[in-house]
Amino acid sequence: QTHVNVIGAGLAGSEAAWQLAKRGVTVHLYEMRPVKQTPAHHTDKFAELVCSNSLRGNALTNAVGVLKEEMRMLDSVIIRSADDAAVPAGGALAVDRHDFADKVTERVKNHPNVTVFNEEITKIPEGPTIIATGPLTSEHLSQQLRELTGEEYLYFYDAAAPIIETESIDMNKVYLKSRYDKGEAAYLNCPMTEDEFNRFYDALVEAETVPLKEFEKEIFFEGCMPIEVMAKRGRKTMLFGPMKPVGLEHPETGKRPYAVVQLRQDNTSGTLYNIVGFQTHLKWGPQKEVLKLIPGLENAEIVRYGVMHRNTFINSPNLLKSTYQYKDREDLFFAGQITGVEGYVESAAAGLVAGLNAANYVLGKDLITFPDTTVIGSMASYITTANSKNFQPMNANFGLLPPLEERIRDKKERYEQLANRAIGAIQNFVKKV
Ligand code: FAD
Repeated sequence: QTHVNVIGAGLAGSEAAWQLAKRGVTVHLYEMRPVKQTPAHHTDKFAELVCSNSLRGNALTNAVGVLKEEMRMLDSVIIRSADDAAVPAGGALAVDRHDFADKVTERVKNHPNVTVFNEEITKIPEGPTIIATGPLTSEHLSQQLRELTGEEYLYFYDAAAPIIETESIDMNKVYLKSRYDKGEAAYLNCPMTEDEFNRFYDALVEAETVPLKEFEKEIFFEGCMPIEVMAKRGRKTMLFGPMKPVGLEHPETGKRPYAVVQLRQDNTSGTLYNIVGFQTHLKWGPQKEVLKLIPGLENAEIVRYGVMHRNTFINSPNLLKSTYQYKDREDLFFAGQITGVEGYVESAAAGLVAGLNAANYVLGKDLITFPDTTVIGSMASYITTANSKNFQPMNANFGLLPPLEERIRDKKERYEQLANRAIGAIQNFVKKV
């Protein structure tokens, strides 16, 4: 039987290697650390957490909590090690980062089916392979990926605008219209009076931002400007940019607002909208406060905050199948942050699905797509069906799941039902895999 190459022993690569090995598949796991470090890693351990020691919420009223539960049921080495290395953190699953990384390293490295090579991969290998080299993929391999995917399908930064749940938008205040009524009305428009704009402007330029890391400073040379930086150029600058009101007169009154914030549909099912042109470096707390000042978004449920990161990722909607398989080469899989999922747990979840499917591939079994009613399946569905033109990485969130048959207004109750449906669906799948 052929072996599977796994490149990168981070969150995704470690999980993928584990899922392969436990199914009896031989794994060659390549990790460049400690021979070559990334700008964010400090150790030679597998699954090193480069920043926070929290794997976020653990409760089932939280999509990332449901995702963890799904992964527990699928025998995830990342979640098992996190549970074993947990430290008290209220409703979150936080870990002692050294203990956690030690446990993952031991379990994966000591598995008899896994052989570890400490070297940098600079060429995409032949034969069954999973690429899980993360947001800080080394330069040589990035170059190869660029050749594989085509230049326009590999990104080095994510400059993402906030994404909100459609259910939480006050539809009485916004209106559907495209600029100059061109094409089908596609945008939700949040109109502002001059007073509202001034209040919003003052809050935006005062709000606290995240300090840039040394290796992130080059982002601005790429010409994508955070909204707060644009605002600081002058009180009226945004009115000629993303907040331009011309052609967006109110369909009922015919009046032109002083300023407009546009929302663009973000997923095929229409449960999410993003705020056009609002990529930002604002800290999450202040970001929420500023966004609340936009008419219609007073109670907006933000499922993904705006960020600007150094982040290597591919245009998955064009390149990947929901099995995490590369469309043009069926023995090549991608996993982790490089696929456009965002976060520790999400990266590991992508590794789990890619590992499972690479195992099925070499064992001659059917490949698996998890139902989109599960959180793990909804992530795969999002990254492979999102609008490829403005594809940006995504966290696990309830907005990605198909709506319930019956509309439930109470958020907590809605989330509970979505969680129950997800866990029920995964139980059926556990038997299958
Ligand atoms: P990684 O965990 O980075 O694993 C990739 C591995 O591949 C690394 O070990 C690397 O050394 C190796 N590698 C790279 N190139 C090669 C090569 N050519 N050959 C061999 N090996 C190679 N998410 C959160 O949920 N919370 C946070 O607080 C958080 N903070 C972040 C901070 C920073 C600075 C960054 C960049 C990201 C952060 N993320 C955070 C996002 C993301 O969850 C993590 O980056 C996560 O580690 C991604 O998992 P991964 O397996 O895709 O990549």
